[in-house]
Amino acid sequence: MPGFEFFGEEERKEVNDVLETGILMRYGFDGPRKGIWKAKELEAAITNTFGCKHAQLVSSGTAALTTAMAALGIGAGDEVIMPAFTFVASFEAILSVGAIPVLVDIDDTLTLSPAAVRAAITPKTKCIMPVHMCGSMADLGALQQICAEHNLLLLEDACQSIGGTYKGQALGTIGDAGTFSFDFVKTITCAEGGVVLTNNHDVYTKCDAYSDHGHDHLGVDRGADLHPFLGYNFRISELHAAVGLAQIRKLDTFLAIQRKNHAYLKAALANIPGITFRRIPDEAGDSCTFLNWFLPTEDIAREVVEDLKANGILAGNFYWFNNNWHYIRKWQHLKSAASLNALSDAQKVALEQLAHNEFAESDRIMGRCISTLINLSWSEDQLQDKAHKLAAVVTRVLESKLEIA
Ligand SMILES: *Cc1c(COP(=O)(O)O)cnc(C)c1O
Repeated sequence: MPGFEFFGEEERKEVNDVLETGILMRYGFDGPRKGIWKAKELEAAITNTFGCKHAQLVSSGTAALTTAMAALGIGAGDEVIMPAFTFVASFEAILSVGAIPVLVDIDDTLTLSPAAVRAAITPKTKCIMPVHMCGSMADLGALQQICAEHNLLLLEDACQSIGGTYKGQALGTIGDAGTFSFDFVKTITCAEGGVVLTNNHDVYTKCDAYSDHGHDHLGVDRGADLHPFLGYNFRISELHAAVGLAQIRKLDTFLAIQRKNHAYLKAALANIPGITFRRIPDEAGDSCTFLNWFLPTEDIAREVVEDLKANGILAGNFYWFNNNWHYIRKWQHLKSAASLNALSDAQKVALEQLAHNEFAESDRIMGRCISTLINLSWSEDQLQDKAHKLAAVVTRVLESKLEIA
């Protein structure tokens, strides 16, 4: 997945263009910047590459989610349905606009279970936020249907699935808005950065102003801008955008390598009895940043993880069930509402309730799931070695279990 593996001349050249003028800010300074507009250029490249009408760059993927929610009018008292398996940014953004995160089970797509979403809808529900985890998509058809029936917004967190598609459309461009992250470990990186994608001009205009203090960007110069509403500073810098511009030109190369490496690893595991794979609603649209696979039971998964560790090959194999960042089980700070600033009563009640909620269906899936990161820089030898060693560990553990049984 990580674009940083292919950082080189191209990125240096783009950054140097900005350093030559010294105009590190994306707005204003029209004369001294000598025609260098990296953020604007990257936004145009994003709309072209992913086939959407508008793109607003911001300072991070988390800022992109916050900005998108504000622009969609999500705020105090609104409930946003999100999955129990995601990165912490999902609930951070919801809480930051004053809304209430409603966490629900995932299914074997590793993303929102449409049945769990249906069961969680209340009169306060405003938005469904699928997170296209680990390179591949939620069951968007089913979620779109639910949104249409209940008149809800669809906000796609596509931060981990840049380049993935669903029925031919880029992930992130299908809902009312979508987001990518360009942080350092994402498919393409700006070092830090993010973007809101939308086909809705009104949503875009709001994102544009909101992410820059509410400035309407209609004045003859920045000082003359008016403020139709309150905003924050979530701007991206020209230096960051410059890195992203070089990276987006490499995206097709990254995706081709990911698909090739993913197919090789998958083939190595596929003929081991007992191994199954994540369900992918549109197989052709997998961006292949991870190979996501299941062991028959949680016990066996834990033993495989231990064995990978003992053999020094755990790195790059993620057992999210035991991980502090990505799964509800270890989010004590969320479940105890440990916020530095006071939360609203409605938010506090909802978070404290979380500690008592069961996520049995998600536990059953995540307890058995291992995600293997697909690197871009593996040589053929490294890829074959990796596949061979992984398959050997898994086969050994499964065979020992069969003998006992
Ligand atoms: C990385 C990530 C984010 C947040 O991105 P940052 O740029 O690190 O703020 C949001 N959601 C998911 C699923 C992510 O993986």
